[in-house]
Amino acid sequence: MAEPVYRRVVVKLSGEYLAGPHSFGIDQPTVDRIAGDLIEAQQLGVEIVVVVGGGNMVRGVSAQGVSRTTGDTMGMLATIMNCLALEAAIERKGTPAKALSAFVMPEICELFTRAAAHKHLAEGRILLLGGGTGNPFFTTDTTAVLRAAEINAQAVLKATNVDGVYSADPKQDPAAQRFDRLTHSQAIEGGYKVMDATAFALARETSLPIIVFSIAEPGSIGAMLQGAGRGTIVAG
Ligand code: UDP
Repeated sequence: MAEPVYRRVVVKLSGEYLAGPHSFGIDQPTVDRIAGDLIEAQQLGVEIVVVVGGGNMVRGVSAQGVSRTTGDTMGMLATIMNCLALEAAIERKGTPAKALSAFVMPEICELFTRAAAHKHLAEGRILLLGGGTGNPFFTTDTTAVLRAAEINAQAVLKATNVDGVYSADPKQDPAAQRFDRLTHSQAIEGGYKVMDATAFALARETSLPIIVFSIAEPGSIGAMLQGAGRGTIVAG
């Protein structure tokens, strides 16, 4: 088995994926499967920090009847529910996990601080970071890069439903070109929809590689960590 290249990574999971075959909510079999994949990845000797989205419940831009900032707050709260679901699923499988929130909510989970993250990782827990950056007008993609930079992770693994970055949506456009490698600047200039430009810009600024891969195949997180999976590396 190949030695993993990285020792600490941030895995970005979209909320949408947690809905499984449904268009809304949390699909338990999907959450259990992803929990298993995260545990398997950790067993390779890699510290795993997960930033979870909230698109399976609320996205600020499309929330009805509220302002954008309130919608974004609702979206950030949705990410915390997803973290709690993943935390429980990981712990049910016998691996310690800890949800940390960008907001102070002591009855629900601990606040994210760098010190808390380092402590829980040193104690062998998988971390689930909820609440995004804690600010409206950002995304959990940007959160993943921000947290990775803050806690000295070596890469962001961006889980999607396609096997890398394409010039257009490969499900709509059969002529879409797939990239094995891109620089951060190429990803920004190309306007590729896989991650927002703020996330790519922060990754460029902090020299963080982003690996875009498909989570659809069970075991793909571990495979990517061992250099055996198929994905696009956005770096340098
Ligand atoms: N959000 C926010 N600030 C953040 C992160 C997220 O306001 O730092 C809100 C925003 O409304 C976003 C929602 O939370 O639409 C859910 O996050 P995201 O869209 O990134 O989730 P995903 O698409 O990954 O499921």
